[in-house]
Amino acid sequence: MRHGGCLVGIVAVLCVLGTARAQDAHREIIKMERARFLRAKDRLKLRQMATATSARDLDVTYYRLELAIDPSAKQLSGEVTIRAVSLVDDLQEVTLDLFNNMAVAEVRSGQSLSYLHKSNKLTVTLSHAYGVGEIVELRVVYAGQPMLAGGFASFDFDTHAGKPIISTLSEPFGAPTWWPCKDDPADKADSVDVVVTVPGSLFVASNGRLLDVATNPDGTKTYFWAERYPISTYLVSVAITNYAIFSDTFRYGDGQSMPVDFFVYPEHLSAAQEDFSVTVPMLEYYSTLFGLYPFVKEKYAMAEFPWAGAMEHQTCTSYGSGLVRGDHRYDWVVGHELSHQWFGDLVTMKFWSHIWLNEGFASYAEALWSEHVGGEEAYHNYIDSFDLGPFPTSVFVYDSTDVAALFSRTVYDKGAWVLHMLRHVMGDDAFFSALQQYNQTYAFRNATTENFRDVCEASYGHDLDWFFQQWVYGKFRPSYQYSWAQSSATHLVSLKVKQVQSSTGLFKMPLDVRVSTDSGLQTFVVWDSLASQDFQLQVSGAATDVQIDPDGWVLKEIEQVPTAVAENDVPEQFVLFQNFPNPFNAGTEITYTLPRGGVVKLILYNVLGQEVRTLQSGFQPAGRYTIRWDGVGADGRLQPSGVYFYRIKLDNTALPVRKMLLLK
Ligand SMILES: [Zn+2]
Repeated sequence: MRHGGCLVGIVAVLCVLGTARAQDAHREIIKMERARFLRAKDRLKLRQMATATSARDLDVTYYRLELAIDPSAKQLSGEVTIRAVSLVDDLQEVTLDLFNNMAVAEVRSGQSLSYLHKSNKLTVTLSHAYGVGEIVELRVVYAGQPMLAGGFASFDFDTHAGKPIISTLSEPFGAPTWWPCKDDPADKADSVDVVVTVPGSLFVASNGRLLDVATNPDGTKTYFWAERYPISTYLVSVAITNYAIFSDTFRYGDGQSMPVDFFVYPEHLSAAQEDFSVTVPMLEYYSTLFGLYPFVKEKYAMAEFPWAGAMEHQTCTSYGSGLVRGDHRYDWVVGHELSHQWFGDLVTMKFWSHIWLNEGFASYAEALWSEHVGGEEAYHNYIDSFDLGPFPTSVFVYDSTDVAALFSRTVYDKGAWVLHMLRHVMGDDAFFSALQQYNQTYAFRNATTENFRDVCEASYGHDLDWFFQQWVYGKFRPSYQYSWAQSSATHLVSLKVKQVQSSTGLFKMPLDVRVSTDSGLQTFVVWDSLASQDFQLQVSGAATDVQIDPDGWVLKEIEQVPTAVAENDVPEQFVLFQNFPNPFNAGTEITYTLPRGGVVKLILYNVLGQEVRTLQSGFQPAGRYTIRWDGVGADGRLQPSGVYFYRIKLDNTALPVRKMLLLK
């Protein structure tokens, strides 16, 4: 008994901490994202053209970056080999992205080629016209100081504890500030070699596997990294300092394993060992949810770098030094970046407008980890912490040069909500199998929202376009008002749900309805899609409370309003009033009162006793009702002039018929 009581106490405290941590975390991520947004904005000012048409004529298959870095001079010199297949006939010119801060010394393709480097574009005149399928190979020799944009460089020279730290963060458009490429996330190179020469005291972390380290006669070292999985340009990175290195092992399948490496500042070694101990358990869990870790023949790594955030460089996340504390405060960042290895790196958005396929998914993966560790309540608390505002823009970014939209809370937080809602609409089995199917179908390629929708529809077995239209392409959220009443005779609960949002159109959603009765809880699902919609719910006892979406599966505002007739307004008698006006021409109104709820039938007859129209049929709660008749019969035709009769029944009680006169 004592032990049990103690356990309850511990659970309660943990739940409170869980909530506080999630909310805290989101205040912090807002700051980080803001920093990223400002950086992107500065960079965008410098981005004068989209990837040139001539680059779209190429399918890049391979990059080799050979970089020599001088930390004291903050100087970079490079030779980059680009191999690509011509997608057109008569290709005479290739235009690459390379910012003007880098000075090009030579472009070769067997022979030296002429080129024009202007407006952050490098246009190379080929030695001859290339045909479809022909392989173009260019070697660009260049050097310069990486460009600062708003105080931030995609290729950054900094220090920690007096030692140089050189690191990159190219997302979204920064890769060409330090290497020439076709900077289009949808053209993944099949493989990339990153070969970097640095002072002998420094270690280079990069993508893929470390094949070799050579010590040069001048005391420098050259690191040979090889990424053999397809990769987008913004995911290519280096992080260089006097790293302390420790490793863990991810075991999978039948006795197979993959190294998990951590490159950290020596002064942070013990804190990092504590914080990063969650990485392998996360790899294991995400592999069960999303499919096996995608780059399993290489590695997963995290390399510390001097920034407040983190970046999901392929197989080698860059992780902000401010996040390494030794107290697991930022486990959610570890999870966010790791999940990007599936959502972002394995499957990359085809256009930046679909960036929620990266960021919404990674944010949602944070919540999935919290569910794994803390259970259902922790999961819902985490999801609730994403509900930070009205979300006045759409999750889909219509104008991807609008950086405020590209890195908005909507993309991250509402993006995560989209997946949370989709999970409940589809059900866990269909939803999680769709996530795996999506990763399999688009592995090492690119995808759009529509690609993801199609995979979800196949898994769910029904159309889901309505869902994506309203939640990804639409703005805001539904605002519900509901009221309910119960028939004391039949226990039938009559529920009215209204959508009262004025900022956007109507939403279609399945809503969980939980009715508390004196004989227990009963849960229903109603599909709500109208401005005002009535639902009848048969429960087995006297209802004391009705809640809509009690577990928070729908992003919404909701309020319960009093039923149309308040308790003290319940009519005392069952009365059918004379219609008004009478005689009438265009239309007339019939009023009646119900002292209790029940099945009401109000039917109109002609003088021959034939039924002309049913004006009401079905359950109604106690109250006063007015129904308008427009002179049209059940056949849709205007009825002729003459006398008509109307008659009402409440359950089995009928009232005397009344007479009305239609005059034309
Ligand atoms: Zn992210």
